[in-house]
Order: sequence, then C-alpha cells, then structure tokens
Amino acid sequence: MTTTPSRPNLWRRTPLWQKIIAGLLLGILAGALMGKDASLFKPLGDIFINGIKMLIVPLVFSTLVVGITGMRDPQKMGRVGARTIALYLITTAFAIAIGLVAATLFQPGVGADASMSAAPQAGEAPSLIDILVGLVPKNPLQAMIEGNILQIIVFAIGLGISLMLIGDKGEPVVRVFESFAEAMYKLTAIVMAFAPFGVFGLIANVSGQYGLDVLLPLAKVIGVVYLACVVHVLVVYSGMIALLGRLNPSRYLRGIVDALVVAFSSASSSGTLPVSIRCAQKNLGVSEGVSSFVLPVGATINMDGTAIYQGVAALFVAQLVGVDLSMTDYGMIILTGTLASIGTAGVPGAGLIMLSIVLAQIGLPLEAIGVVAGVDRILDMARTSVNVAGDLMVTTLVGKSEKELDLAIYNSDNRL
Ligand code: ASP
Repeated sequence: MTTTPSRPNLWRRTPLWQKIIAGLLLGILAGALMGKDASLFKPLGDIFINGIKMLIVPLVFSTLVVGITGMRDPQKMGRVGARTIALYLITTAFAIAIGLVAATLFQPGVGADASMSAAPQAGEAPSLIDILVGLVPKNPLQAMIEGNILQIIVFAIGLGISLMLIGDKGEPVVRVFESFAEAMYKLTAIVMAFAPFGVFGLIANVSGQYGLDVLLPLAKVIGVVYLACVVHVLVVYSGMIALLGRLNPSRYLRGIVDALVVAFSSASSSGTLPVSIRCAQKNLGVSEGVSSFVLPVGATINMDGTAIYQGVAALFVAQLVGVDLSMTDYGMIILTGTLASIGTAGVPGAGLIMLSIVLAQIGLPLEAIGVVAGVDRILDMARTSVNVAGDLMVTTLVGKSEKELDLAIYNSDNRL
C-alpha cells in the first residue's frame, strides 16, 4: 500500500478556521469562473447546513438544561438574563444609528439606477402580549419539532430549575443530560470537520448566481451596508470587549472566525447556532451555563446586522423616491427598526420581509423593497455575520461579568 504522508498531515495540521476561510475563497473563485454552473456544488453546502440544523434542537435543549443545573443559583440566572437583554438592546440601538449615519453620509439612493418591480405586502409586527403568550409552549415536543427556540429555552429553563429543586432525585436525569450534551458537542465537531467543503459549496453557488450586471447598479447600497457592518463589529463590538470586558478584542475577533464564515455563507444565524456555541466555549472560554443561554436567545432576538440593514435600506428608499425625512421619521426608523430586528427570524431573507414594517411605518412605498430584493442575499450574508458576531460579543461580556470566562482559553493561541 502506498502512503501519502505529507497531504493528510498538512490537512490535519491546518487549523479548522483557516480551512474554512480557504473554502470560502475557493468558493468565490469557483462561482466567478463557472457562473451559474457552480450550482453543481450546492449539494455540498446543503448537506453541511442540514447537518448543523440537525444539531440545533438537541444541542440547545441538552446544553441549556445542563447549564441551568450547573449554575445552582436562581439569582444568578435572573442577573444573566437581565444583562443579556440589556446588552442586546443597547447594541441594536447602536447598530441602527450606525446604519442611519452611513446612509446619510454616503447617500446610496441618490442617482441609483433601479426599477421597482414587486409589490410585497407589509408585514405586521406581533403585539407584545402575543409574543409573551407565545413564549410558553403548549406542547414541548411540538416546540422541538417546529424548532421554536424561545419555547425550547423556556421549557429547558423550567426543567433545569425543577431538577435543581428536587436535588438528589434529579441526579440521574442530570447525568443523562450531561452525557447527551457531551455527545452533541462531539457531533458538532464531526459536522464542523465538513465545514470547509460545505462553505465552499454554499459560496460557490451564491457567487455564481450574481453577475456584475446585478451587483453594479446597487453597488453603492451594498458598499454602505458592508461598511456599516464592518464599522459596527470593529468599533462597537471590539470597543465594548475592550472597555466593558477589559479583554483583548483581537482575541475575540480571532475566536469567532468559524462562526462568522458559516454565518456569511449560510445567511442564517439560527443555523449557525451550534457553531457559535462551539466558538464561545472552545475559543473564547465562556462557560456552558452562560453560552447555552445567551447564544440561543441572541440567535432569536438579537439582530444587529439586520438593524443596520433596515436603517440603510429605509434611507436608501427615501433617497430613491426623493422623500425628505423629518427627525420624527428618524426616531420612528430607530424604534420600528429595533422592534423589527427583534422580530426577525434567524433564517435567510427574513430581514427583507421585516423591512416592510419599517417602510410602512414612515409611509415609504413598499414596492421599493423589490429594488433591494435582487441583491438581498449579498446583504443578508453581511448582516447575518454581524448578528452572530453580536451574540458572541454579548456572550463574552456576560461570561466575563459572571466570572464564567476562562481567561486561559480566551487568551490562548490554540484556536480550533
Ligand atoms: N438572515 C438573517 C439571520 O439569520 C436575518 C435577516 O434576514 O436579516 O440572522
């Protein structure tokens, strides 16, 4: 039997994040060279995404139960919850403000060459009462089948607290969940080993679909959304990590690369959740208790990238149709944009649908959504990456403030 020692060794020696980035770059190249034929590689991406999605419900459920029973302190849970929600709201307000400033400075809608085609229906924001009632699952199994993360979280917290309260009697079940959660981490690692190929397939397909003829007319709005996203991550997130967490932001940025690339190529923050949980624990050193609560909540309600996009898109449309916005309109965009981003599901294209709420609120024509719809996937990739980066930033800060962040892991060079 012949052996080829150098190749497998190089493959094994290269850290996963570098292989994933290589998959991303090669995917862009393959799409550029092959055009629509690159959809040939899409099944690779679909297998990978299905593999990660398969993990979401069992992983979130088991790790959250283990995380809650591990905290052993109901007060701490309340504190973690309050901090999490506060940080998520603050970062979203920053995000939408950055989007508005960027769109005011660069005026992407002025002189844009675009035709309005589709006339979508305005979405409707659910009422606060409906949201609260909907948090409690009628049937936990149904919540799992539907993949309703918030309901799963509520049931897992209830179960975790009950197991804590019954003490010794709960021990066997806790051990089952511990062992199950461990198996889910292992399965995540196995699926992630396929990530370089999956990312390649996903990106090759997307990059093959978008020719310059589609991108160029809207290049300015794409540029403004990307710029605002980069500024938000590098200034707001890194700044908060440095100032509030007293941590080195470059470690945070390096630690989240896997999740960023998967978010970018899949355009789904829910779908990226298992990868985010893995990055938080293995690269950033956040405990199971904090990461298994803060991240699923974030993947469902914290959408800073979507908020940025809604700010930029609203101004883009106003500039396109030549409407001058008042200060009240700006306030309205911030308010509805924040609410709409919270209500946006972490799946591809959801932000585009929620944009109709913001536009309807300030009386802008909904037909204009058809203009940005053509390049929505490209914008979605950037906003989803920011959504995921934001969840991981807040997880890091909450972990640090609860002394549930292992600094040795955070500062180590041994990234996955
Ligand atoms: N695709 C985004 C996400 O999953 C949501 C959006 O469309 O804005 O985070």
